[in-house]
Amino acid sequence: MGFANSGLDEIAGVGADPKRGGYSRHGFDRVELELREWFTEQARRRGLDVRTDRNGNLWAWWGTPGKGAIVTGSHLDSVPGGGAFDGPLGVTSALAAVDLLRDKGFQPVKPLAVLVFAEEEGGRFGVPCLGSRLLAGTIEADKARALTDLDGTTLGDAVRAAGLDPARLGRDDEALATIGTFVELHVEQGRGLIDLGAPVAVAESILAHGRWRLRFTGEGNHAGATLMGDRRDPMLPAAQTVVAVRQAAKAVPQARATVGRVLPVPGGTNVIASTVDMWLDARSPDDAGTRAVVAEIAAAAREAAAAEGCAVEITEESYGDTVVFDTALRDRLAGWLGGVPALPTGAGHDAGVLAARVPTAMLFVRNPTGISHAPAEHAERDDCAAGAVALAEVLERLAG
Ligand SMILES: [Zn+2]
Repeated sequence: MGFANSGLDEIAGVGADPKRGGYSRHGFDRVELELREWFTEQARRRGLDVRTDRNGNLWAWWGTPGKGAIVTGSHLDSVPGGGAFDGPLGVTSALAAVDLLRDKGFQPVKPLAVLVFAEEEGGRFGVPCLGSRLLAGTIEADKARALTDLDGTTLGDAVRAAGLDPARLGRDDEALATIGTFVELHVEQGRGLIDLGAPVAVAESILAHGRWRLRFTGEGNHAGATLMGDRRDPMLPAAQTVVAVRQAAKAVPQARATVGRVLPVPGGTNVIASTVDMWLDARSPDDAGTRAVVAEIAAAAREAAAAEGCAVEITEESYGDTVVFDTALRDRLAGWLGGVPALPTGAGHDAGVLAARVPTAMLFVRNPTGISHAPAEHAERDDCAAGAVALAEVLERLAG
């Protein structure tokens, strides 16, 4: 049963990152556009009608597009140096599920669509789930258009280069209204299914999570000529804040907080930095817990900055409250699949964004390493096949 991975095999060479390992595929970059081409080709080969919505999400329709559609999909972009499965497994499994249903002569009564979301990881423009947030209207179009990547290219410029009209970015009620039910299949990003000894689960909930930028500003100067007592080095409060992040997260049950990206400017070995930008990712089961962790970190950052004669500016770049997936839908899916387990997740998903607007469910496929957002992320071929079969079963019941 190798069919579920055939799509993954086809794209295995696209966006491989020799420096970081794994894959670097980011919204509207050359690699992600190549993956969109590949998807469009695959969908057309299956007779699906491919359309790009105002926000750059790709819809491949089986049947006439319309209200009450059963929609499944995920994303093709990755984090920097990410695994092969996070995102693409959901897209390739959706195509495999279409094949399975076709082969058995199934004709959907409701319209069915495979949806590929743009820039899910926020790897280029910093805001995760950008395509679904724009679609659902949970990010302002003006704010989104002005987001910039590391080279200073705005999202507006990037979508224009990809052939879209930046003026049309934003909440798309017409597209959203077509979704009757959304189901996203995703590789599990934890150890839940390893511990349960099961290949597939349904999702229960997503943590309340967000991203914050902390900009520490001091005084750039010479590393040799500046006496230790004369320095205002923003690297000091930044470093102290990293330690505070661990302590603050440990104090709140089930909270997680991470600094995975630090950018000293100008970034020279013999230069005291003038600013240090640092990004915080914080999550916990509820809004209050996540806010408490961030407040604690912010207080520590301010204190450390003041002690060094530096300033700190904290900006919330994105936030999503706790998501509890539609429990009736979740239980129906679990039942159809023979009583598969339900698991919470610490990872964010487009399905989490859509859940606020339409009935939404997720399927997880076992990841034997338990590692994700890293090259070691994995899913066995048989488990991928089990996932595609489960997705086909669910789509058949929902759309039949
Ligand atoms: Zn993902």
